[in-house]
Amino acid sequence: MVEQILYRPSTIECPICHINQKIEIPDYIYQQKHIGLIKVQVRPGTACPHEFIVYVDQLGKARDYEHADFQIQLTARTPNERAASDQFSLEDLLETLGTFATLRVFHAFIFNYKILVLIVPTDDPKFVDNLNDLFTRSFPAHMKPERLADKTRLSEFAMLDMEESKTLILDTKGVIVDSPWGDQKDFDFETELIKKALEFNDLNAQLLFIQQRVGLFKKETEDVIALLEKVGQMIYDDDLRDKLAKLFHRKLTDHLVTHYIHFIKQRYPESEPLLRKIHNRSVESLKEGIW
Ligand SMILES: [Zn+2]
Repeated sequence: MVEQILYRPSTIECPICHINQKIEIPDYIYQQKHIGLIKVQVRPGTACPHEFIVYVDQLGKARDYEHADFQIQLTARTPNERAASDQFSLEDLLETLGTFATLRVFHAFIFNYKILVLIVPTDDPKFVDNLNDLFTRSFPAHMKPERLADKTRLSEFAMLDMEESKTLILDTKGVIVDSPWGDQKDFDFETELIKKALEFNDLNAQLLFIQQRVGLFKKETEDVIALLEKVGQMIYDDDLRDKLAKLFHRKLTDHLVTHYIHFIKQRYPESEPLLRKIHNRSVESLKEGIW
């Protein structure tokens, strides 16, 4: 039996020029009761030149809008040039999923979250294999993805119980059905990683850059663990940031420190108790104020 995919149209409005447009969301997404707002990236040229994210509720109503994280200008490749590279590349991924979903897929692979790709009969059947292959090649040898992306067909997806969802669920058009990190919107690390990788024209150089940057991030996280083992009972968050900046010989943003902590929770659960040593100075001074 051929699976029939039904689409539910939803009228949305561009948050920049306010032109109305219709998007179609596959009906099967609504069959999961436990899923919150569905995030759809509207690509430029759909009805106007703007790119944005729309959050759609279970009734198909647009609830919120957001500007895209950033827009990547991909080099226009001829079909011949594309055919010439037999391996699935970062640009292929961006062309398929769009920037918004690509950033989240990077986040999921780096931080070891499960990924589930919803496949419809018209999709390239090799997409998930290509995706896994790309990330296996993009990560340093000592840090191959512990979890590879899985795929599911619509009929199977409708039967899954997603109540305890700890999974990034998306389709091949870049629609984010669910994400395990809630409403986190901070993907600065991944954004910078992709932007800088694309500065290289050579596909192997792109992969090498990602390997090195991800490997460095892992090494630095291990330095954070070593430092936390050495400090006494506690350390303030800003002192930790300053000590790390000294150790790494560069300025660190609070965002990056949060990323190390997140990485420890996801990839070094045995070291997670060490994180209790980190105290937030502003919270503590607030407490003192109360007393
Ligand atoms: Zn617009």
